[in-house]
Amino acid sequence: MEKTKNIAMIVILIVSLGLGVLFAWFFWSILMGDNQINYAEYSECLLYSKHSKQKVDLTRQNNSQLVSATFRKSGATNKIKQFTANNLAFIKRCENNMLYQADPTVVTAFNQKKASNHFKTIADVVNGMTNNKFYPYQLEEMVLTLDEKEQLPFRNNLIAFANLFVNFFGLSVFQKLVYNIEINNNIAKSSTGNNNQVLAFTKLAGNGNSLAQCLAFTEHSLQAKMSKTQYEIGFHSTATNISTIVHEIGHAISNYAWVWPYNRIRFNSNITPAIGRCTPTKDKTLIYIRGFMHSPNDLLVRYLGTKVGISNNAPFQQQLAAWSFIQSGYGRTGGNAELFAEGFAQWLLTPDDQKALNWQILNEFYGTYFKNYYLI
Ligand SMILES: [Zn+2]
Repeated sequence: MEKTKNIAMIVILIVSLGLGVLFAWFFWSILMGDNQINYAEYSECLLYSKHSKQKVDLTRQNNSQLVSATFRKSGATNKIKQFTANNLAFIKRCENNMLYQADPTVVTAFNQKKASNHFKTIADVVNGMTNNKFYPYQLEEMVLTLDEKEQLPFRNNLIAFANLFVNFFGLSVFQKLVYNIEINNNIAKSSTGNNNQVLAFTKLAGNGNSLAQCLAFTEHSLQAKMSKTQYEIGFHSTATNISTIVHEIGHAISNYAWVWPYNRIRFNSNITPAIGRCTPTKDKTLIYIRGFMHSPNDLLVRYLGTKVGISNNAPFQQQLAAWSFIQSGYGRTGGNAELFAEGFAQWLLTPDDQKALNWQILNEFYGTYFKNYYLI
C-alpha cells in the first residue's frame, strides 16, 4: 500500500515537472518569438500550390524602362543603397514564377462584380460621385476632349470601372471620395522639358476641421495612345485608356482608407466655394485627424512580401517582392503610394487573358484584405 502511494507520487512529480518545462518553453518561445523569426532573404515566389501550367504573355514591345527605371531609382534612395545582381535575379525569378494563369473561378467571380449596373451612363456616374453643389466632376467633358472614335470605348470603360468600384467598396465610399474632378492642362507646364510630364494628380488638403480631396487631369493624360505607349515601355501597369483615372482613384481610396473610420465623416464635408478648385498648390495646413498606423501603401508592400514568404523583418526584400508583383516602372520608382496606385489599376484593368497568379494575389489584397483591414 505504502509502495503504490510512493510510485503514484513519483509519477505525479515527473508529470508536473514535464508540464512545467513545457510551459516554460511555451512562454519563452512567445516572449522571444519576435526576435527569432527567420525571414527569407530571397524567395522562389511560388504562389498557390495548385495552378494552371499555362503562362500568360506579358511581353511588351520594349519594356526596358521597367528594369532600367528600377535600377536608377534604387541607387538614388537612402533606403536602398546597393542593388545587387542577386536582387535583380530575385525580381526576375518572382516575375517569372508569378505568370501562371490565374484560377478561372476567381476571374469569373471578379467579372461578376461588373455585371450589376449601378450606372448606365456617364451622367449616372457623375451623379453617384457628387457630394457638393459647388464644384464640377468633368467626366463628360473628358470624353468630349477625345477623338470621336475613342469616345465610346472610353465611356464604356469608365462606366464599367465605376460599377466595379461600387461593387467592391460601396456607393457611399464612391460618393465620399472627391469633391471635384477637373481637366487642367496647366498642371503639365510645371514640368516642361521633362519626359515624364505630370499627367494628373490627386490632392488631399486640410479644410478647416476636415479634409478635401480632388483630382485634376491634363487632356493628354486621357489619350488612348498615351496609355498604350506608357504601358509598352513598361512605365504603366496597364494599357487601358482609363488607366490614368483609375490610378488617381487608387490614390484617392488609399487616402480615404488611411483615415480612421470615425473620422471619415469629415472627408469632403463642409465643401464651400472658398475651398477652390483642384489646383497644384500645396496646402500645408495641419489637421488633426486620426489615421491608421500603417498607410495602405505600406500595407500593400508588407502583404505582398509576406505572400512570398518574406517577413516584416526584411523590409528591403519585401519591397523587391512587391515590385515584382506590379509591372510598372512608375510604381517601382515613385514610392509606395505610386506602387499602390499602379497596383490598383493593374488589379482592375488587366485583361482576362493576362490575369496571372500575381493578379490573383492583388485581387486578394485590394478586394478583401485591404477592405477588411481598414474597415471599409
Ligand atoms: Zn500617382
